[in-house]
Amino acid sequence: MNQKIIVAHYYTDPAIQALADSTGGKVADSLEMAKFGQNHKAQTLLVAGVRFMGETAKILNPEKIILMPTLKAECSLDLSCPEKEFNNFCDQHPERTVVVYANTSAAIKARAHWVVTSSIAIQLIDYLDSLGKKIIWAPDKHLGRYIQKKTGADILSWHGTCIVHDEFKSRSLYSMKKIYPNAAILAHPESPESVLALADFIGSTSQLIKCAQSISQQQIIIATDRGILFKMQQACPDKILLEAPTSEEGGMTCLNCGTCPWMRMNTIKKIIHSLTKNKKNHEIHIPKRLQKKALKPLILVLGSIISGISNNIWGVILGRAMQGSGAISSVVMALLNDLICEKNRIKAMAFIGLIFGMTFAVSIIIAPILATYYGIHSIFWITAPTT
Ligand code: SF4
Repeated sequence: MNQKIIVAHYYTDPAIQALADSTGGKVADSLEMAKFGQNHKAQTLLVAGVRFMGETAKILNPEKIILMPTLKAECSLDLSCPEKEFNNFCDQHPERTVVVYANTSAAIKARAHWVVTSSIAIQLIDYLDSLGKKIIWAPDKHLGRYIQKKTGADILSWHGTCIVHDEFKSRSLYSMKKIYPNAAILAHPESPESVLALADFIGSTSQLIKCAQSISQQQIIIATDRGILFKMQQACPDKILLEAPTSEEGGMTCLNCGTCPWMRMNTIKKIIHSLTKNKKNHEIHIPKRLQKKALKPLILVLGSIISGISNNIWGVILGRAMQGSGAISSVVMALLNDLICEKNRIKAMAFIGLIFGMTFAVSIIIAPILATYYGIHSIFWITAPTT
């Protein structure tokens, strides 16, 4: 039987998040949503979120059917980074390593060396910087500036913004803080620099939820999409959560009230429709060529980060297995299937297997030397950008 499961982003309507939770699905950030699909036996994944999230889920779950309540839910960051312009930009700086945010189309991901979420961007770019790499960052300029400040890396940033976070205003936030002097301010790094300057904690959606749980203050002002309040309040029911203001002092209107208009295009009615009616209007398709290219930077970063931050052998094995499978399955084997005629395919695969065997043999000799001088974790960070 074709089981279906719902994964929802933290920014979707609380009713949708509750539905995902109560039906065995998951509420998470974009990469976690896609990873959940990988580990679940359901053959159909309903992704409640915006289009790039459905695409990311498809890239990591190519054999599964990925449905969305609506294919019209876009993202201003994704829209701000068109393929042709971005490729020209990268072509002008061939010496730079291209690191892109998950909030990009499959075509932009395919152009990248690395794909990151805001929770791992600093860690990765700090490491690339330590190798002397210069970076192209896309698409969010606020997040790019924040990472640059944190790491000191040489970053050439694309100029996109999130229409939700860009609306948080420091002057209004400052006034709010005067009313709630004991409140902690938690902000997403897609917010403007002046807002981040007032924040007690800056982090990704999942990091903000964890922080709300652990921080000592009872009142918390949140500068991100208000959809996050549902999970955050569940995580810390005793705390008072306040939405950060989005209009300047004296402003008559609030442009978006901390709500992503595309996330709100997801409704329960559309979910039911996509799960029960003709899936044609709801299914995500990505050209095979793009899917293969975009898979590599995603898998490599997931594997390397898991290995790099793991404190036990199982985490290291899992991360390394992900890297290995990503590198092998997405690139080499795909290429073999596409380019080599059936008659010679077995010989080609045997040859590739021999090369992998020799590589592993050499790595067994070199790894202990690296570990002795630089520590175990250095092995994974060193090999990450070269795989
Ligand atoms: S909240 Fe911003 S970054 Fe998230 S989907 Fe909406 S426009 Fe894109």
